[in-house]
Amino acid sequence: MKFFIVLLILLLGVWLWSRGRRQGSVPPQRPAKKADVKPIDMVACAVCGVHLPRSDALPGPQGHYCGAPHRQQAER
Ligand SMILES: [Zn+2]
Repeated sequence: MKFFIVLLILLLGVWLWSRGRRQGSVPPQRPAKKADVKPIDMVACAVCGVHLPRSDALPGPQGHYCGAPHRQQAER
């Protein structure tokens, strides 16, 4: 009988400890909002139509180009 009382107290202690841990735990961090992420400005190549970031595109007389060969092709 004594063993059961000890076991009961032990289980109660574990239950209280786990309950306290759950309440005291730090909530998980929120994932970054979509508004925080800046979209990359994309442009389409005037010759082949491939989309690429504006920073990687070559500016030309009729728009942006994916590379020098397409810019030359458009200028001809
Ligand atoms: Zn192109």
